Amino acid sequence: MGRGNLKRDVFIGNICFDTPLHIGSGEESIQTDALFLRDTEGNLLLPGTSIAGAFLSHLKKILDNSYSGLLEEIFGREKKASKVIFEDSVLKNENSTIIRDGVGINRETLTAQDKAKYDREVVQPAFCFPFQMSVDYTFNDNQNEIRKIILLGLEEFCNGHILLGGNKTRGEGFCHLNIEKVYSLDFSNLECLIPFLKNGLNGVGILTYEDYKKDVSFTSLKLNSIIRLEINYEILLKEPFVIKGRGEFEKEEFDTSPIKILKNLNSAVSYIPGTSIKGPFRFRAEQILNTLGLDCCDPTKNGGCGKCLICNLFGFSSKEGQIGRIYFKDLYPSNKELNEKKFDFVAINRFTGGALPKAKFNAKVLTSGCFEGKIIIENPKEYEIALILQVFKDLYLSDLPIGYGKNKGFGRIQGIIKNMKFMKLGKDEIIKKYGKFKEEGVWKSYNIDLKFKGNEKGLDVDGNLKEFIKCLDKEWKNYLRSQNEDLSLCRENE
Ligand SMILES: [Zn+2]
Repeated sequence: MGRGNLKRDVFIGNICFDTPLHIGSGEESIQTDALFLRDTEGNLLLPGTSIAGAFLSHLKKILDNSYSGLLEEIFGREKKASKVIFEDSVLKNENSTIIRDGVGINRETLTAQDKAKYDREVVQPAFCFPFQMSVDYTFNDNQNEIRKIILLGLEEFCNGHILLGGNKTRGEGFCHLNIEKVYSLDFSNLECLIPFLKNGLNGVGILTYEDYKKDVSFTSLKLNSIIRLEINYEILLKEPFVIKGRGEFEKEEFDTSPIKILKNLNSAVSYIPGTSIKGPFRFRAEQILNTLGLDCCDPTKNGGCGKCLICNLFGFSSKEGQIGRIYFKDLYPSNKELNEKKFDFVAINRFTGGALPKAKFNAKVLTSGCFEGKIIIENPKEYEIALILQVFKDLYLSDLPIGYGKNKGFGRIQGIIKNMKFMKLGKDEIIKKYGKFKEEGVWKSYNIDLKFKGNEKGLDVDGNLKEFIKCLDKEWKNYLRSQNEDLSLCRENE
């Protein structure tokens, strides 16, 4: 049983991904700039330390500071081992990965920037990683308190609040844990210890996770005040649309074909990577601020100033860098049908106006369909929500093209907010004014069924939600007023 422990709880299940996962190995190949991590036998490896890191940093984020000593007690510190062991997780299916491109936008030419192009190997969301975690308790431990904190982390993991791997704000690493069984071992009891020594976990009784957690309540825990705004939206295709893929799933060869991924094992589907939405969103938010006479930086130069509203919300890579607070989850097809069509193009000689004999190319593009996505903003300021809703207004008016060939009559889409959901943790008074929150695990949630009808004149919403927009509008104007007094927010850094 090792480590001289009295009790051990073992949780077994799997981690299922909603979007692709990238765990970098720090190595590259002919195919990609960044290979997925592998073990010595070449299997895809999600290290226990990566899961532990994400698990612990999430607990640190949501638990009050007074728990830092207990968290060190549980997860270890210098010379003191962790009570919690996350096993390395291995995926043996070599065909589970594809190469995913990343693209930056050049602010001057408005085209994809070559230097910002990088790619990486990701595991497709159809594949699950096995999960095993154990917690050891000794006589001296406050077992109830430790169990409560571990369960809080597991619940958050199960509910999709813990993301894994890289590029989280660009749509990757969204996942949820499924716990299939729990073993609760009491080594002070010979009836438990002897079968365990003989047959390992096969020798001991299994609990369901529901049974294991049924007596635990989180109400006594002191949680930090956190707000999370989820915006669920749809993207409707209005014109031929394509985000270029690598054609891995096409039977014929095309010069251009839609990016696809295995969302389930049956067949690959077209999707829109979060990164393809995040770039245009950020860029349009910059434009809105610039139009209003507010400075914000161009993040493609020097990685962002780190001070302006945009850097603060979307993140920046200059200096020590900071991950943004806005997450753009990948979009997958809704139930509505996606239609594809083949196109032949002829390149025209710019001097003679005639067709170039060898410059024909073909493309397979989407002609109609609908994708569903989610944007999450952590601890949003009201003026930040107001800014994001203004980008959504442009998206609603089909004034924000996305994807390939925007100047070829491609890429016109319409974005429609389906609903917005405020979630809050801890004692938060700030968003009380919006309405009554209902319990959702340790979180409290409040749904805004925003019937969003943007038009050129402004935001238009239904009845009782006018209040919400009025609030945002007021905060937005306050923000503008405060900024106009100090237009140099970014300049001092240049
Ligand atoms: Zn900036």
